[in-house]
Amino acid sequence: MRRKLVAGNWKMNGLSTDLAELDAIAAAAKVTQCDVAIAVPATLILLAAKRVVDSPVMIGAQDVHSAEKGAHTGCLSAAMLNDVNASFTLVGHSERRADQGETSADVKAKAEAARDLLSVILCIGETLAERDAGRAEEIVTTQLEASLPKGAAANWLSVAYEPVWAIGTGRTPTVADVTAMHGAIRAKLRGLIGGEADAVRLLYGGSVTAENAAALLSAGDVDGALVGGASLTAAKFVPIIEAAAAA
Ligand code: PEP
Repeated sequence: MRRKLVAGNWKMNGLSTDLAELDAIAAAAKVTQCDVAIAVPATLILLAAKRVVDSPVMIGAQDVHSAEKGAHTGCLSAAMLNDVNASFTLVGHSERRADQGETSADVKAKAEAARDLLSVILCIGETLAERDAGRAEEIVTTQLEASLPKGAAANWLSVAYEPVWAIGTGRTPTVADVTAMHGAIRAKLRGLIGGEADAVRLLYGGSVTAENAAALLSAGDVDGALVGGASLTAAKFVPIIEAAAAA
């Protein structure tokens, strides 16, 4: 039985005053039967981790560099993130693949660099043009294979399926589409890492809200959610945590 994971992604949102939102999220996480994580901006990791220290909420980063240290202006290594009490990082978010030109090879290297110090949520997903062309499963499973770190294992890796066209748009795939894609991802993972694939959590991400969370989180092979906009306030995020626990 895979325990559900609800992870928030604050993206480039949040100042120290916004950390007050974490209080109600931490309170909900204490009494709910699901794991809760939030990837805050790097500037807030230390403060956020201190704020939730008495709760099970995991605080993490949105990206990590693949090198241990060196001449990479503006970047952060896994050791640096670990040093400020991050416990996980996202890698391969579609906004980074698009805006920073990150390839699946880059994403794989990042995950491999992080794995000894941080858990990893690996993001994959197709564009609308790819879905309309009937290539969604092929694109997503190819991306998974190319991004999957060596030694992938469920105790440090989760995979987030995030159709690019659903992120921040208010559009979501149908529950049947999500079930089909998660089944395809699970099958591909089994081919790549064998039985360990059955323990890896597969998250759905893309316009998850309090209203649609129960349906999406009950879909086959959906073990949680990666939530952008609706993770910014406790009022929107806590109902998603509760829906996950109930699913
Ligand atoms: C995301 O950025 O990972 C995401 C899922 O965003 P949103 O929930 O806002 O669509």
